[in-house]
Amino acid sequence: MTEIRFDNRVAIVTGAGNGLGRTYAIELARRGAKVVVNDLGGSSTGVGESATAADAVVDEIRSAGGEAVASHDSVATRDGGAAIVQKAIDAFGQVDILISNAGFLRNSRFEDLTDQQIDPILDVHLKAAFYVGQPAYKAMRSRNYGRMLFTGSASAMFGHAWQANYAAGKGGLMGLSHVVALEGSAYGIQSNLLLPTAVSRLADEMDMGYMEIPAFAASLQRCEFEVVGPRTVPEFNTPLALYLVSEDCKASHGIYSSNGGRYARVRICAGEGWHTPRGNTPATVEDVAANFAQIESPAGFTEPHTVYDEIFDVTEGGRKAGVFD
Ligand code: NAD
Repeated sequence: MTEIRFDNRVAIVTGAGNGLGRTYAIELARRGAKVVVNDLGGSSTGVGESATAADAVVDEIRSAGGEAVASHDSVATRDGGAAIVQKAIDAFGQVDILISNAGFLRNSRFEDLTDQQIDPILDVHLKAAFYVGQPAYKAMRSRNYGRMLFTGSASAMFGHAWQANYAAGKGGLMGLSHVVALEGSAYGIQSNLLLPTAVSRLADEMDMGYMEIPAFAASLQRCEFEVVGPRTVPEFNTPLALYLVSEDCKASHGIYSSNGGRYARVRICAGEGWHTPRGNTPATVEDVAANFAQIESPAGFTEPHTVYDEIFDVTEGGRKAGVFD
């Protein structure tokens, strides 16, 4: 297998001063990319600023012979996003890759979440994808090539107590990435969503108060952290992240999990379901109740890639079920 390289590619990695982003930036540079190392340098709850985090990673890349520049702008403002992309264009003339990764946590019970725990979380995870993503997309579109990787979370796809704010932001990125993938397919731009898992400084924000929720406590207790522990360092996520932003990768519109050394596609699917046989008269609530097991059934799952794919499946399925004349 030939080595996957990023020569002549310009990559922006946001939140690259620590944790996952740091490993992406270093490995991209080691494989030939010119990298904008963006980081605001705040705490794991998004408090404060410092140039040190981004600068240290740039130093590390340069001392290994790579090319990188630092950006200390916040991804969470429109101006910050524009400045990050402009940095790439000023320093390296183009943008080929965006790994949108910056973020922090402000966990709390759903009913207690304040605007100070909701707005900054939506800004840094969801709105940042517009602030950095839009100017990056324009730069990519002008050259008919681009790879975008947004950082989602298993918390949004599968659920995590006390993270309704975070899950809302991360969940929104799924829709955003799907639409960027669709629109970008006309211009050589691919977009995917990565669900990483790593013990980073964000782990400090975890709270055992979750144990008050029996279903969540049971789920936590049966998972064997000690088995996967050594495979939860950030570096285990780097290979999949880099492959997804490489020229070799032709996959777009996907959701990928990287967790404890297992790399897997996560799919949003619709079951075969139940088609009302009442012709053009709507089903009753009682019809739904009576057929709920079939509505819930995973049988015949398909994965629509547009809303019209789903309508196609509905028509085909309804025909098979004999509900259309
Ligand atoms: P981390 O705290 O080590 O790194 C995140 C970086 O983002 C920090 O260096 C921070 O300074 C930077 N940042 C925060 N706000 C910023 C802003 N406004 N502008 C620019 N930079 C900013 O955390 P990590 O675990 O490496 O997380 C990276 C991404 O992965 C985050 O989006 C996180 O939500 C996501 N994620 C992490 C895990 C995990 O298990 N660690 C799981 C799912 C998703």
